[in-house]
Amino acid sequence: MKNVQFSSDDTEQYRWMWEDILDTKEVRDLFGPFIFFLKNDDGETVSTYTGADLPEETGICQEEKLFQLEGRFWTAGAVVNQSHSNSTGLVFFLSGLIPFLKRWLQEQFRNGPGRDKRYALMVQVTKKFHSSMKAAAVLKEIVQALEFIYPGSRIALHLAQDWEVHSDLGHIDCSFGFQNINEKMKQTYLLGQIQTAETEKEDMPALYIPLLGKQGVYGVLAMEADRQLVEDEMERDYIKTLADTGGSALENAELYQQSRTLIKDLQLINETSHLLNSTRKFEETVDSMQMQIEKFIPESRQGYILMDDVRNLRMLNDEYFQAPERMETIFRVMDHFERNHEAVFIGDLSNESSYDFDGFRSMMAVPMKQSDELKGAVIVLGREAKTFSFHQFKLLQSLVHHSTLAFMNAVLHEKLERLIITDHLTKLHSRSHLEQKMNESINKESRGTFLLFDIDNFKEINDNFGHQIGDSIIVQVGEILEQNIRSEDIAARWGGEELAVYLPDTSLEAGRKAADRIVRHVENASSPSVTISCGASSWMNGEYTTLDNLFFSADQALYRAKRKGKNQVVYEA
Ligand code: GH3
Ligand code: MG
Ligand code: MG
Repeated sequence: MKNVQFSSDDTEQYRWMWEDILDTKEVRDLFGPFIFFLKNDDGETVSTYTGADLPEETGICQEEKLFQLEGRFWTAGAVVNQSHSNSTGLVFFLSGLIPFLKRWLQEQFRNGPGRDKRYALMVQVTKKFHSSMKAAAVLKEIVQALEFIYPGSRIALHLAQDWEVHSDLGHIDCSFGFQNINEKMKQTYLLGQIQTAETEKEDMPALYIPLLGKQGVYGVLAMEADRQLVEDEMERDYIKTLADTGGSALENAELYQQSRTLIKDLQLINETSHLLNSTRKFEETVDSMQMQIEKFIPESRQGYILMDDVRNLRMLNDEYFQAPERMETIFRVMDHFERNHEAVFIGDLSNESSYDFDGFRSMMAVPMKQSDELKGAVIVLGREAKTFSFHQFKLLQSLVHHSTLAFMNAVLHEKLERLIITDHLTKLHSRSHLEQKMNESINKESRGTFLLFDIDNFKEINDNFGHQIGDSIIVQVGEILEQNIRSEDIAARWGGEELAVYLPDTSLEAGRKAADRIVRHVENASSPSVTISCGASSWMNGEYTTLDNLFFSADQALYRAKRKGKNQVVYEA
């Protein structure tokens, strides 16, 4: 059993009282040598009194008795020589002692040693502050200290937000946010100054103390207590000192939380930059961005919009944004960005006449800028009003800022691809060149035929002979195409193992012959031998057509050629 060391003053103060009650002839006669102790509910020994040394050779008898005072539990205990008493006798004795102990403790809180206890408690709170990163632990210590020192008072905390303290505060009366607090409390919070107010109970006014940190006010400690106390300058000072420790603890929690989110944000931005650097295609850039944004804004709809030099808009994704009825609003957003480069954050679109995004009430829109020129925008929509937080908005701005370069690279890449007219492997024309020539033909001629070829079972060829032989077969098929068309016809690498030929000013009938010839030739002349399938489409008599129409029909026809057994030509329906 441990003897607590009191300061010399304390020892004196405690000693007179223990001697008076415990070290009497009656007690000595009853128990002989004994040790008495009192513990609080943290298990700390508040006081011990040793009547005399216990002889070691005899057995000892120890009993404890719990009682409640001022909202805390206390344990009174005694150890005596077994030869002098049994458990029942000891319990009986302790029970009789409790009313006295209660009175004594109350005395300690209010007078003499109470003053010291206050500072001991303050030291305890400060220690907690230095030893624990947890704001909840510090706040709890403060409230308990105040409850201890000012028994009968009512204490509540009103915090600006829940710094993850909620679950650890136990029975402490605590609210978050400042929607439901009274004017005086608001003043306390806004001015950072102590306020007082009357309450329903005449003799118990309220004291509102700001939880002040170095950078701001984090909440209000509300205390209803005796008028005498509330009006006492020194008492207020004392409470304020404790409250300030709470404020600093919350400030730490806030800074810690901020630094954690900051690190998370940086990780996300870093990761996004990596993802964006690894691709040059729009689809992949949009996909990566969407995926990253979804990580911190889960339920949202994202639109990616590019604007070219002549203010043509291009929706890179999402049928919602691509729908014609969205055009006007998207133009408005871009208009706004041209006049004012600031991003837009709207909590409730139903109060906004200029932006109409059907089915959505929250909107964030961030411009993509390059050397101060507007290049596009990212629009993020939420179904409900106030879906997005300001933090999400800020993070979205960073991400868009970091992704703009990737989008601009994709634009350049696309332009570059369009400029390249020859395919590297086959030396046939590039697809973009073919498209350009077809467009010219559609504009100035009255008919034409488009043939789309795909090598049959090419995967197997690759698997059986390797990619290099695979490549050489694509080259062979390309050569066979070139040998079987006229000089004004254009053969191109459509992509992968798909090749295409456009025959300007050629009827479907003539085109069919050419296609059949090519298919037969490939079957006979390729080595290792492969076959190809062909889908053909044509236009005539100057009828209105588009490239997309021709491509689509040929593609459908090619699909049917494959379905019908490959190694053949199928014409559009
Ligand atoms: P299908 O008869 O239905 O066309 O069967 P397939 O095996 O040819 O199937 P599909 O057209 O879907 O697959 C084409 C394969 O061609 C897939 C790809 O690995 C291969 N490929 C695409 N481009 C190239 C290339 O440039 N070189 C080589 N060696 N292989 C390619
Ligand atoms: Mg294919
Ligand atoms: Mg194929």
